Amino acid sequence: MSREVRVRFAPSPTGPLHIGGVRTALYNYLFAKKMGGKFLLRIEDTDQGRFVPGAEDYIKESLEWLGIAPEESPWKPGNVGPYRQSERKEMYKQYALDLIEKGHAYYAFDTAEELEAMRERLTAARVVQPQYNGITRTQMKNSLTLPAEEVKARLESGDPYVIRVKIPLKEEVRLNDLIRGWVMVHSSTLDDKVLMKSDGMPTYHLANIVDDHLMGITHVIRGEEWLPSAPLHVLLYKFFGWESTMPQFAHLPLLLKPDGNGKLSKRDGDKLGFPVFPLNWTDPVTGENSPGFREQGYLPDAFLNFLAFLGWNPGDDREIFSLEELVEAFTIDRIGKSGTKFDIAKARWFNEQYLRSKPSEELGNFLTAFAKAEGVDIPAEKATAIVNLVKDRVTFPAELWKESRFILIAPSEFDSEVAAKKWNTDAVNLLGSYAVALDGFTGTFDAVSAKSLLESTAEAEGIKLGKVMQAVRLAVTGMGGGPDLMEVFAILGSQEVAKRIRFALDQLPIVG
Ligand code: GLU
Repeated sequence: MSREVRVRFAPSPTGPLHIGGVRTALYNYLFAKKMGGKFLLRIEDTDQGRFVPGAEDYIKESLEWLGIAPEESPWKPGNVGPYRQSERKEMYKQYALDLIEKGHAYYAFDTAEELEAMRERLTAARVVQPQYNGITRTQMKNSLTLPAEEVKARLESGDPYVIRVKIPLKEEVRLNDLIRGWVMVHSSTLDDKVLMKSDGMPTYHLANIVDDHLMGITHVIRGEEWLPSAPLHVLLYKFFGWESTMPQFAHLPLLLKPDGNGKLSKRDGDKLGFPVFPLNWTDPVTGENSPGFREQGYLPDAFLNFLAFLGWNPGDDREIFSLEELVEAFTIDRIGKSGTKFDIAKARWFNEQYLRSKPSEELGNFLTAFAKAEGVDIPAEKATAIVNLVKDRVTFPAELWKESRFILIAPSEFDSEVAAKKWNTDAVNLLGSYAVALDGFTGTFDAVSAKSLLESTAEAEGIKLGKVMQAVRLAVTGMGGGPDLMEVFAILGSQEVAKRIRFALDQLPIVG
């Protein structure tokens, strides 16, 4: 009988969720939905020293913003909880003891000084990677080397100890990663990792395996940085006797710096001016602020679409996918093996596509809100006309206001460079006559009638319109460039255009 697909995102609350973590969550979500399974979230907070207040809320808010909230989580428990490892603390010890019983783990009593002395000894003997392993454990203080009575006495007297896994000396460990294919590692390269710490807390490795087993996880989809731990995890499944329900692994390729040289870091984002976090974050200790995609004006659906393509593609040239379409198209075998370069230009491109495809009424609401914050009220109908005119010129919603500010607020200054080049007697004559013509205009003032009136005025004055067009724009908008000017006139209305022209004629001295 095939099991229900259950996948988990298992972040540690050690700071803001990095964009790579959000991608991991997204791929887990997509896979779960595609397979008709469940997407869980488990907080891995066994390392109390690295706990950062606010990090858990940040994770929750990020996933909710993107519409990929887990079905089971600390905030919405299912029936395999608790969903925070710190709250499962008591569960783990019996599993560590079970491994000792089966001969796959042991107590180790070495002090920090003894461990350090071992490392120094090995380093002096030119061992490249000094570690506690199948060879060195024979020279250390543990339940494999000490007499049984001493071990018992130490445990009874409350001597501090850890529990370490006993890695077999000679064993080929294999796993068939869904992305990377067969991975084989010889056990002699693995160390006897700590499973239970002296404070009674499990380490990541023990807690992760026990929880994935108890939570019925069928597929572990996580970042490539965990691939080196996977052989140990496979051994643990075997030691526990859980091989038949061991999850399948899929290790996701790294997110690389834009130039492809190394892993994408927060510093790259700071240096190149883009966020690497989904939401703004203020470090609770240092007070340092980090920008987020949300606050920079990325739309959640655009950001999701961008993220999905950082390491996956549908196999054809389609790029715009809604969340539902991503679920439909998603398969693990289309995730690439090699790292993906982070390209912020692509993120902007997705945002533009999504922004432009939004109904004008919706964009109008964005504009109205931004304008209101600046003290300008826009009637709904006018907002729609304005966004239709400027939406192809913006990447972020806030730019709707920047791009149309000149329509809503008459210029009080004029671009002096454009004025120096284009403001001349012909322009002044034409504009003077056009203002008069506008006063007498009756009928519907739209882009077509605005233009034909301007053309006939120019003709009557014997002026070539092409030569003075930029001066006309300058007079009405204060700037040398912008969206279609006749559409702007239509939105402003004939009286406002005439008024602005007269103000410009009054303000700008004639040069040449
Ligand atoms: N807690 C680990 C992390 O922070 C999870 C690794 C895993 O998914 O197994 O990335």
